Amino acid sequence: MRSGDPSSVTVPQEKQQRRVRRKEINRQQLLLRPVEVEKLVDLDHPVRAIWELVGRLNLEPFYAEIESVEGVAGRPVWDPRLLISLWIYAYKDGVNSAREIARLCEYHPAYQWLSGLEVVNYHTLADFRIRHKEALDQLFIEVLGVLSHEGLITLERVMHDGTKVKACTSSKSFHRKATLEDHLRLAREQVEQMGDPESEEVSQRVVKARQRALREKQQRLEEALKALEKIEASRSKTSDKERARASSTDPEARVMLQANGAYGPAYHVQISTDAQSKIIVGVGVSPSPADAGELEPAVERIETHLGQKPKQVVVDAGFTNQATMEAMIEKGVDLIGALPTRSGVAPNRLEQRGVSPEFYPEAFTYDASTDSYRCPAGKVLKFEGEQQKSASLHRRYRAKGRDCKGCEFQGQCCPGTKKGRSLVRSEATPEMVAFQAKMETPEAQAIYKQRAGVAEFPNAWIKDKIGLRQFRLRGLAKVTLESLWVCLTYNICQWIRLCWKPRRLAQV
Ligand code: SF4
Repeated sequence: MRSGDPSSVTVPQEKQQRRVRRKEINRQQLLLRPVEVEKLVDLDHPVRAIWELVGRLNLEPFYAEIESVEGVAGRPVWDPRLLISLWIYAYKDGVNSAREIARLCEYHPAYQWLSGLEVVNYHTLADFRIRHKEALDQLFIEVLGVLSHEGLITLERVMHDGTKVKACTSSKSFHRKATLEDHLRLAREQVEQMGDPESEEVSQRVVKARQRALREKQQRLEEALKALEKIEASRSKTSDKERARASSTDPEARVMLQANGAYGPAYHVQISTDAQSKIIVGVGVSPSPADAGELEPAVERIETHLGQKPKQVVVDAGFTNQATMEAMIEKGVDLIGALPTRSGVAPNRLEQRGVSPEFYPEAFTYDASTDSYRCPAGKVLKFEGEQQKSASLHRRYRAKGRDCKGCEFQGQCCPGTKKGRSLVRSEATPEMVAFQAKMETPEAQAIYKQRAGVAEFPNAWIKDKIGLRQFRLRGLAKVTLESLWVCLTYNICQWIRLCWKPRRLAQV
């Protein structure tokens, strides 16, 4: 037996006469194999459902933007039906990269079936994903129409919630004003020093790409400085303004607390889900970490998409403030939600300020006839002003500075205050009183208990199955488009799960 011969195996002494015959693997051969494209995927494969559904939709807004037409010179373009189907199937599979889809078209049966064994260039796929904002909005509405026709949407009850998704940038890209200005100055100098591409030794394509990158960098830094101005304007304390930072790579992203308990750059995706079959009926993206103020635009989005408002919306405490309650009353939408936290001055804040418990607000006596308070030393705290906060009206009262200055209790009552001790009286508004009464009923509490199960179902699906834990695109407009693609995919997945698959099984 020859040593090293792969077709020969050493066998025990007693069986030395036997030589095992094994199949040879020939990797040098060339094969021409027929491929029946139609049979690349099974009849109940979800890629067929996506192709079928997209084919039923009105894609005219996509076709209207195509310049290549019959009778005019120019190359034919990829059919939007194919590009939409490729993106939907890719998102469904957790693939969110145009390059990856192009690679999958080379060997994956489902992608090959869709493209008819052609490979779509990744530039075409990447451009298509971000180019057709209005057409994609229309497509989302078209799919909602199909789902509504199937009886999956009733708008009797809609659960609304926000979920934070990481931005495509790092915390290290956030800088203060001085650093951003330095970077911008450098970028402008580099742009000014850019030479003529034709005079460079490397290829013109490379030079033009470098020049484009520099111009984009300069533009992003200018946008970051504008974003920083907005952040500073939203802050009242000078020390907070000085600490403000903005990202040099994604100026519209904001640092916010995320689901994993860590702070990082993110966007806040707002999702409205119909309780009937957990279909997403509205999606928006906000750069604000807070939920307050997001419900009203969400209800308006639903009305735009489906031509009617939801009868009832269910939200958590982050949304239930005075303005939202008033807006829902005005729109005739029944609001169910957790009670907002009353934001008076908390005892621990008083403790931090060095106020002794004997001088907490309970020690002050209110006189309704004069709308004023009397302090433990017998001095009057007059009404100073009021402010609407959350679902309460905050009325502020203050003692005269000279009364407190000469008071023996100042060290325990208002240490370090020059203006005199102040007190905030929190009054619930009539809307808040009515909302509280409603939320104490067993019916409202039973409805609220359903909120997490419905609202968090699409959140979990788009993060775990579709894989939207971090955006691939940058900027509010593009991440909104990315969210729309993902929610469209989610809705089509639900249609496959609830309608298409059962019908296919019934036919077999
Ligand atoms: S410090 Fe002012 S508010 Fe406090 S007990 Fe004295 S006078 Fe009254």
